Amino acid sequence: MGQVLISVLTAGEGPGLDLMAGGLVDRYKAAGVDPPVALYVDCGCCKEVGETKLKARFSEWPNLIVRLDIWHFMRRLAVGCTTDAHQMYPTFMARMSACIFEWDAADVNKLREAKRAHLKGHSWTSLTEKQLDRQITKEELELHCRRRTRGEEQTIQLLDQLIGELISDKGKDSLGVPLLDPIRMQHIWFVQKRHVKCIRDPPDVALYTQTGTIIKGGVQLQTLRCARGSTSLESFHCHLNRFIEGKQCQLP
Ligand SMILES: [Zn+2]
Repeated sequence: MGQVLISVLTAGEGPGLDLMAGGLVDRYKAAGVDPPVALYVDCGCCKEVGETKLKARFSEWPNLIVRLDIWHFMRRLAVGCTTDAHQMYPTFMARMSACIFEWDAADVNKLREAKRAHLKGHSWTSLTEKQLDRQITKEELELHCRRRTRGEEQTIQLLDQLIGELISDKGKDSLGVPLLDPIRMQHIWFVQKRHVKCIRDPPDVALYTQTGTIIKGGVQLQTLRCARGSTSLESFHCHLNRFIEGKQCQLP
């Protein structure tokens, strides 16, 4: 995978990570390679005034771009929901993601072409675009298509719209239970809005690596792996939880 995974056990975050950060910087220096371009974090991405502690911790890498993990950003907004068991919760998360990301149109068209040809081979003829799109799974999109973050302004505007809509009667389920707690949601959005700039894709960084190709419906499709965010590390948390035995063990 071309990845190095370092696991650090510390009694506390913050200064408790200074030695680890110093060691990481030394390791890059010793290897004689360029410092990393981007760092994804789940907190401490920016400060209203002045420099963050994280920037100070990595002061030897002055050009390091710090980004907030998008999943964590979405989870922060989702705290404005009355319950995650609400029937509109999955739709809210999916629509929030659409406010943040856009798919690469050329990649999606290629996948559509392949899927149409593939389904035709299974006697699905004359599909409308809508019917075709319904057959394309989330997994297929993620495997074959790149996506990028929309601009800061557009995302703020779209999230404003989405939250405004779901705070209204449109955000209630069939029994009239609201998805969002309006006061809490408005406050969260007010506080989190400034981080929309922290979730933008770093400019000129290739976040996708082509891992191979497959043939679908006679069309060659690229398979991709994305390096955005901390998803692979999050799965590692999950692995650690299972790997270390004991009922009391819980990792953040
Ligand atoms: Zn931020």
